[in-house]
Amino acid sequence: MSTARVTWVGGPVVRARPEAPFAMREAVRVGDLGLLGEVVRLEAGEIVVQVYEETTGLAPGATVEGSGAPLAVRLSPGLLGGTFDGLLRPLHLGDDPFVRPGAPAGATPPLAFTPTVRPGERLVAGHPFGEVAVGGRTVPALAPPRVAGEVVRVAAARAYQDDATVCTVRADAGDEVEVSLAHPWPVREPRPVAARLVADAPLITGQRIIDTFLPVARGASAAIPGGFGTGKTVMLESLAKGCDADVIVYVGCGERGNELAGLLAELPELEDPQSGRPLMERSVIIANTSNMPVAAREASIYTGVTVAEYFRDMGLSVAVMADSTSRWAEALREVSGRLGELPGEAGYPAYLSSRLADFYERAARVRTLAGTEGSVTLLGAVSPPSGDMEEPVVVHTRRYVRAVWVLDTERAHARFYPAIHPLTSYSEEAERLAPWWQAHGQPHWEQVRTRMLTLLEEERRLARMARILGAEALPPAQRLILVEARLVNEALLRQSAFSPVDGRCPPARQAAMVRVVARFLDLAEEALECGVEPETITALESYRRLLRMGEEVVGEAAFATLEEAVEQDFTRLGCPAGHGGGGEGGR
Ligand code: ADP
Ligand code: MG
Repeated sequence: MSTARVTWVGGPVVRARPEAPFAMREAVRVGDLGLLGEVVRLEAGEIVVQVYEETTGLAPGATVEGSGAPLAVRLSPGLLGGTFDGLLRPLHLGDDPFVRPGAPAGATPPLAFTPTVRPGERLVAGHPFGEVAVGGRTVPALAPPRVAGEVVRVAAARAYQDDATVCTVRADAGDEVEVSLAHPWPVREPRPVAARLVADAPLITGQRIIDTFLPVARGASAAIPGGFGTGKTVMLESLAKGCDADVIVYVGCGERGNELAGLLAELPELEDPQSGRPLMERSVIIANTSNMPVAAREASIYTGVTVAEYFRDMGLSVAVMADSTSRWAEALREVSGRLGELPGEAGYPAYLSSRLADFYERAARVRTLAGTEGSVTLLGAVSPPSGDMEEPVVVHTRRYVRAVWVLDTERAHARFYPAIHPLTSYSEEAERLAPWWQAHGQPHWEQVRTRMLTLLEEERRLARMARILGAEALPPAQRLILVEARLVNEALLRQSAFSPVDGRCPPARQAAMVRVVARFLDLAEEALECGVEPETITALESYRRLLRMGEEVVGEAAFATLEEAVEQDFTRLGCPAGHGGGGEGGR
């Protein structure tokens, strides 16, 4: 292995004089503590190393030892349910939530293994050779993507440590390769797949404003930009708890540790709505909070997506939540500054954009090497300074994601949650996902969605006029638009993350809510044509019930009753004499 001598230490950046050549991106150990680092630049007679741990106490003269391999993390089915640092070393929460500098990855509890291959059979790269029971489910034990050959030996069914050899194959070159339940993978290299597939089904999040209005596909990506306190963390945590992915990878990146502690306390208590098992069992938490070394934060989002790809390769759908990619970008900026690189916009290095692309482009729905189907969906919070939506991280992120859920400061101040703005946000997935909703209880999903968004658009235009002239000065048709938009906002878009009945809204409930609101809108517009005043409509009992529907209406029967009440209210209203669908002016 190559070695080098440290000549200079500047925070997370170390310069050293090599005694033998190093490779770019090679993982290294630095100093007596064996601090983990990565070669980030090769210069004439010098290497530059980014160190992922505290460098206090490190001085010129210390040794740097090469590993001969790129920075890698150790992937294992046993990661499920665990909490790790940015380089996937276990964090033990409790008195001492920190990994000690240079600490090797700890052993996880033994995993129950059952072989599915026999000696003499051929094992293809990325294919299963057995099964592993973990977190209340069975996942395939897969050959690493680059290991293939004839099975020589395979272990009997029982529990094994994930580093024990459970299968030995004779590679085509003739040498024997030992395979365990865990294997290393370089974090910056996407794992290979057989094919990328079209992402044509939604990730169901249980959030109406997302699923019904601004959907994200399984295998696509979305960003959540928002100023301080607008609800990014609450939203990502709601998604971690409520979305229908098989595995959740939650990356707490540079945010305060106590926020993550809350999530960690909650997950074991909550049930997975699909399996009924504790939510923690489907989760992997990666914590690189604000008090932990800055350079590891830079690696942590790649670590997160690498873990996600690993479970994807088992044929699972995986969602990654990264809170916050802005803190990640700041780490990138800090290290770049230490490297003496030329700063670009707002001090960020010129490669900020390509690094964001490297991350978001790893979102995909794929056919795995094993022939199954899996997906990685990436959801990243962006916290621009003072909520500035034109700053570089927001601007570049927009280029690589399929949906943007903008958290609106005004909505958040008015405590209208979730504060995602329905008009400044967008999803490029709506058209592609329409057939899914058509097959799942919303036959007119696309039309209804467009109609409601158009209503909100018109309201935005009218609200300004109403503020100047007073709403009473507007013609009835325009006053009705304000009434209708209020209904869409209050009944459908507002949804408290903390409500036991409405915090997570499954597709069937969303369909029922949308249906009854759409029916109300139809009847209200018919009534207007008959000369009914908008104020008469807002006085209807069913209008008021619809406004509070999220909290108060639960269950199929209750929705049927509500729909009936809507019909009856309008029947009672009748069509005042003298009108007959003639249509009042103003539209
Ligand atoms: P950010 O991460 O953007 O700084 P948080 O997610 O911590 O903001 O949200 C700040 C506060 O706003 C929360 O503590 C909570 O009181 C409120 N809040 C945010 N989103 C919601 C929501 N969906 N439902 C109810 N309350 C919310
Ligand atoms: Mg936050």
